[in-house]
Amino acid sequence: MSTSPQSGALGMTLTEAISCLSDYDPNALPVSKVREIVDRVVSPVEAIERVSIRAALDRVLAEDLVSPIDVPSSDNSAMDGYAVRAADLAANGPTSLRIAGTALAGVPFAGSAGAGDAVRVMTGAVMPEGFDTVVIQEVVQVDGDRVLVPAGQQAGQNRRLRGEDLARGKPALRAGKRITPADLGLMASLGFAEVPVRRRLRVAFFSTGDELRSVGEPLGPGEVYDSNRYTIWGMLTRLGVEVVDMGVVRDDPESLERAVRIASESADAIVSSGGVSVGEADFTKQVMRKLGDIAFWTIAMRPGRPMAFGKIGRAAYFGLPGNPVAVMITFYFFAREALLRMMGADPEPLPFVRARSRTAFRKRPGRTEYQRARLVREADGTMSVSTIGSQGSGVLRSMSEANCIVVLHHGQESVAAGDEVDCIAFEGLV
Ligand code: AMP
Ligand code: MG
Repeated sequence: MSTSPQSGALGMTLTEAISCLSDYDPNALPVSKVREIVDRVVSPVEAIERVSIRAALDRVLAEDLVSPIDVPSSDNSAMDGYAVRAADLAANGPTSLRIAGTALAGVPFAGSAGAGDAVRVMTGAVMPEGFDTVVIQEVVQVDGDRVLVPAGQQAGQNRRLRGEDLARGKPALRAGKRITPADLGLMASLGFAEVPVRRRLRVAFFSTGDELRSVGEPLGPGEVYDSNRYTIWGMLTRLGVEVVDMGVVRDDPESLERAVRIASESADAIVSSGGVSVGEADFTKQVMRKLGDIAFWTIAMRPGRPMAFGKIGRAAYFGLPGNPVAVMITFYFFAREALLRMMGADPEPLPFVRARSRTAFRKRPGRTEYQRARLVREADGTMSVSTIGSQGSGVLRSMSEANCIVVLHHGQESVAAGDEVDCIAFEGLV
């Protein structure tokens, strides 16, 4: 089960989710309210499948993974040196011990040893029975079968305890974790060959607009190439969902209705672009309201003000705006997290990087602004950020050149050059 604290509220109808808000205005909806509503309406896919651990990369773990073993499986040496019994060591001077044998990683000491003995140990070697301390080889003197241990050793030093990394029966990974390379290693270290993951989310997507042409076709006057289907495909693919590309849908009610029906029957979520701005929304609204429970919003944000959201049958519907940058911003800041939740993940909030703005921003309180920008590390180690020239919501190049988004929060006012701002970097380590 998802461990999300909100899991009890998941899967509400749109009307229920909206009624939880005290002051709902679809024509001036703050970003935070959009998130609240969306989070409440979406719910995780239930089906679980078992896959081999490599196939689990980027998938969502469906159940807590409980360690079947202690890691490490026995007390072992953390260093190359000599295992001793702390009780044998003299308090105020060196101690001479007999070397009773050797233990290697994977080859335990097989002889018998006791009081007055030491055992040569390599890193990872199981500690011989009754031996509790390792003296590193650099500080001892060896003479034939005897070793001289200097004073000042701490009982228990350089020894890793059984179960120290992970005790048997303890959860090693929680349900809802999106599986990373480190997790693959952890699963392997516990001996799992297969793990339970949520089934892949299926997301259908299409573009709307009579002016759109597909790549490879000649452009007529006033026509544009359909770029949204490529950015949306890329963003969905990165999330690890199964994508269903439904192409371009013409701006007429029958075509839209047909596309939405097919999508809602075959996918868990639908992402469309265009057709939700005030000028175009009229026929879209008619079609959508006939087919599902959909709200049309003007969000207090820039770019990306218009957006539709709701449910068509069992499918969640994200009606993103048409402008190419607005598509990406609304996807990243609303659809992404919702889709992750639908995948069964328990997403962590995106980390903000604080950086000094090299440019001033005019900003009025009462809306959230997302500026395309470049984050750089200055010679003194501090971070600074400068915006990319054109912030027009149709200028996709700005998104391509940017390496971060500066988020100017709802209540924030204008920013002067030199002020600190919150940025979200595009690139992460894993
Ligand atoms: P709309 O929201 O449908 O009014 O579209 C707003 C703007 O985005 C218009 O200039 C459209 O031509 C443009 N646009 C809409 N869909 C796409 C698309 N798939 N690819 C590129 N531009 C688009
Ligand atoms: Mg359009």
